[in-house]
Amino acid sequence: MTLRGRTLTEWSLLCVLLVGVVGMAAWQGWLWRVDHLLYDASLPLLSRQAPADIVIVAIDEPSLARIGRWPWRRAVHATLLHKLAQANVAAVGLDIILNEPDTDDPNGEALLATALARHGRVILPVIPPPIGTARMGEGRPMAAFAGAAAGLGHIEMPIDADGIVRGLYLWAGAGAAPHPHLALAILALVDPVRAARYQPGATTDGLAAPDKWRRSGWRYLHYAGPPGTYRTVSYVDVLTGAVGADQLRGALVLVGATAAGLGDLHATPMSNSGRPMAGVEILANLLDSLRTGETIAWLNHTLTTAISVAAVLLLLIGLLYLSPRAGLALSAGVGVVAVVAGIAQLRWGLIWLPPSAILLGAALAYPLWSWRRLEAAQRFMDAELHLLRDTDPVTAASPTESTLDPLDRRIAIIRDAAERQRVTQKAREDTVRFISHDIRSVLVSIITLVDHAAGRNSNDRSLPRIGRYAQHALDLADDFSRLKKAETVDPRTFREVDVAELAQEAADEVWPQAGRKRIAIEIDDAGGRDALVLGDGSLLRRALANLLGNAIKYSPPDTTVRVNLAEDGVWQEIAVVDQGYGIPADQMDKLFTRHARVSRPGQPDEPGIGLGLVIVKTIVDRHGGGIAVESTPGSGSIFRIRLPRAASRRA
Ligand code: ADP
Repeated sequence: MTLRGRTLTEWSLLCVLLVGVVGMAAWQGWLWRVDHLLYDASLPLLSRQAPADIVIVAIDEPSLARIGRWPWRRAVHATLLHKLAQANVAAVGLDIILNEPDTDDPNGEALLATALARHGRVILPVIPPPIGTARMGEGRPMAAFAGAAAGLGHIEMPIDADGIVRGLYLWAGAGAAPHPHLALAILALVDPVRAARYQPGATTDGLAAPDKWRRSGWRYLHYAGPPGTYRTVSYVDVLTGAVGADQLRGALVLVGATAAGLGDLHATPMSNSGRPMAGVEILANLLDSLRTGETIAWLNHTLTTAISVAAVLLLLIGLLYLSPRAGLALSAGVGVVAVVAGIAQLRWGLIWLPPSAILLGAALAYPLWSWRRLEAAQRFMDAELHLLRDTDPVTAASPTESTLDPLDRRIAIIRDAAERQRVTQKAREDTVRFISHDIRSVLVSIITLVDHAAGRNSNDRSLPRIGRYAQHALDLADDFSRLKKAETVDPRTFREVDVAELAQEAADEVWPQAGRKRIAIEIDDAGGRDALVLGDGSLLRRALANLLGNAIKYSPPDTTVRVNLAEDGVWQEIAVVDQGYGIPADQMDKLFTRHARVSRPGQPDEPGIGLGLVIVKTIVDRHGGGIAVESTPGSGSIFRIRLPRAASRRA
């Protein structure tokens, strides 16, 4: 498998794994504690001004001290209701349980029933069956009270697994027709139009048992602030007139216990420094937010899952392309954005996107992907070390530097190998210099001496042969160093060169050779247009000279060699066309291999080394071009080179 293929496979597997984990975490709320923690921490950002017309009449410690131990006589409540009626309050929610008869005070019952009826705008509570039971039935006020009240409302206070009250059901009750929440029942008295917007929905349980306590219409509470945010007056102060009628006129009054001893205190996200909130104040918060319409919703599971999975997929795509450091920054960024966007969405949209699944994905993606990348790096190094063991067993066996970490050990070995590679490269350059300079100069001296000697002693038949061998050796040395130069040319040194000019110079170079066979060289430069390519001028000139030299060498006298220049899209084409002996089709494929010499029967024998075309091909390859040959034995050959045209010429 290719490196890329393997990386993509591992990445895809990681995607599948993380999408699965993150999807499940979002769908099933695995990390609900994290979501609740962040949600609770964000809620105080939503604090708002409590309206003055919602008033809590608190059954507090001073009231207990003055009126007596709880429960109070019902006549006391009757008196309170009279006071509230005189103050002309808009509605009263009496968060007091009146389900049992008071055997000590039979008169009180009638007094309270009368007070309720006279007031006419009092809502009484229905309580759910106790938790831990089968939850059948409901606790209603005594019939005398229920009949006299303006309505009933349930006061179930659902507590999350961590003991905190975050929301309420707007509808609950035993049987098919549920009660509105006490707060909603109050709203229905004063603003029926708005209250009608909160209709009962599908219940949380089916209709298996007709008498079962059922709920619907879950709403997260939009708390206005910490405990004590709503206007609170003491029960006893209303009773005694210390809080005057003018202070209560038109108010929505909630009567309930705030004294610690009465047990109606709850932990809420707003209970900072551990101060719990009285149940009656939670009712006030609900009433307020139902009236303004500002309730909070959590994004549903499907959308939460989709968004979480999408965020993690984006992160994984980023990791595929980014460097480790940028990847780490991206992972952290995704986590931060998820939390910040979640909080902003809650603050300004009143919708909470639980970010825990995205955080989980962000926390897992980076280490897992880095681990796979490290494994890939280690695998690569092991493969290289395996190869190295064959060529350089000493270096492969143990690094020069001692290390503890297995990765460091491999890095050290590869660093040693790279060092040796540099030394070898240097030695190779020395060899090329040695052949192309030192040996060459000896050969030139031999040829000069042989020429001299042959001039003086023309009878010695061995001298010209020595000269020919020396010349052959010199040609070999030259071709060898040209080939090395072509193989190692650095494309960064390429400049714009005009191949028409280079072709002319190459033609000049081979002109003496052509002259001896009366061969004409014609350059068709397409009307004198410059033919610019990006390259090494001297190498390209060498390639053209080699092709022209071959064309002359392998053509009979009195023929023509033509150089045609043409543009073909992004390519500059150079064709060297001769009228020579041609190349047999079955020999074409070995043309560009080292020391290949091909010929047709009957063709005159020409001296050669068989490196010329290898050099041409190497030069053309290094320039990003290509070479092709067409040949018809007996009538000639065409060697076609194509090189990428210089960008400035193409533009
Ligand atoms: P050499 O040194 O033998 O010329 P080259 O690599 O330049 O080596 O060429 C390899 C062989 O290809 C030559 O021996 C020759 O047989 C054949 N060849 C090259 N160019 C031509 C040509 N223009 N026409 C016919 N044969 C050619």
